[in-house]
Amino acid sequence: MPEGDTIHTLAAAIRAQLAGQTLLKVRMRPEPRGHFKRGGSVATPGVASAEGELEGRVVRDVYALGKHLFIALDDSLLLRSHLGMYGTWHRYGPAEPWQKPAWRASLALWTDRDVFVCFNAKELEVLKAGSIDHDNLVKRLGPDLLAPDFDLSAVIRRARELCAADAPLVDVLLDQRIACGIGNIYKSEVLFIEGQHPLGRLRSISDEALGRLYAAGRSLLQRNLGGGRRVTRWVNDGRGSLWVYGRRTAPCLRCPGEIHYARLGADMRSTYWCPDCQRGTANPETHGAADKDQRSGSPGSRSPEGRGAPGDGPRPRNGGKGLPPYAE
Ligand SMILES: [Zn+2]
Repeated sequence: MPEGDTIHTLAAAIRAQLAGQTLLKVRMRPEPRGHFKRGGSVATPGVASAEGELEGRVVRDVYALGKHLFIALDDSLLLRSHLGMYGTWHRYGPAEPWQKPAWRASLALWTDRDVFVCFNAKELEVLKAGSIDHDNLVKRLGPDLLAPDFDLSAVIRRARELCAADAPLVDVLLDQRIACGIGNIYKSEVLFIEGQHPLGRLRSISDEALGRLYAAGRSLLQRNLGGGRRVTRWVNDGRGSLWVYGRRTAPCLRCPGEIHYARLGADMRSTYWCPDCQRGTANPETHGAADKDQRSGSPGSRSPEGRGAPGDGPRPRNGGKGLPPYAE
């Protein structure tokens, strides 16, 4: 799943090329993978009419809200996409062959000079700005960590209100209702940077320490805006640009210990940590699935790491010209 900085960078790149352009032709895949709303609150009963509704409209803006990418058109129409784990955006010339099969395209937008194709979107819908669906979506999302007016106290308040007190920090950080932007890589990295154990419980962490996790996440997202290789460790010693992510059983970069790996949390997401450096919210309660996960992550246990498990690999190269990398 892309991190928030990825989507903001992608939105800026698409905006630079698409804003002000007229959509000459639009194609939406009738039955893409995963959730798909045909028209949302717009009066468009089917995909074909949604396409007809969009063609001829001018793109007014392209922006990110958390991991959602919005393409704003005339008359307050919004095209919302969420890439999930497998989605990507490509840009092609009008006659240029696509690098992925057309049947994988969830959405394709033609202008007189480019074709923008979103492959394998997890979610795609047409919305009307200000509609109930749109407002409900915005309300569901926490503050964007990359927003200029980001309010840290609001995030702490949302975490206390929306999450169970015994929720592990891995789940809290990935919960986009609390704050938008932290994905799976930054989750492990901010926990390491702040010395918090991934299975530390929400009730055991102070507001100050919780705020530091989000502040660290915001800082990493800001510093990584612009694309390129993701960096959380700015030490030029040839030992890598990330502290823990993807470094299972490698030596810790701060202590003599080694990095542990397990799939943790409600969604069993890959998590890396140093047990010696991350003692915050001490004695994390390890019960239920999380306990099992932690044991399965002991050194020497099997894991899908390195076998191409979704969401675990490095950022791939971008498939289309002129767009930054945007998926992992
Ligand atoms: Zn360590």
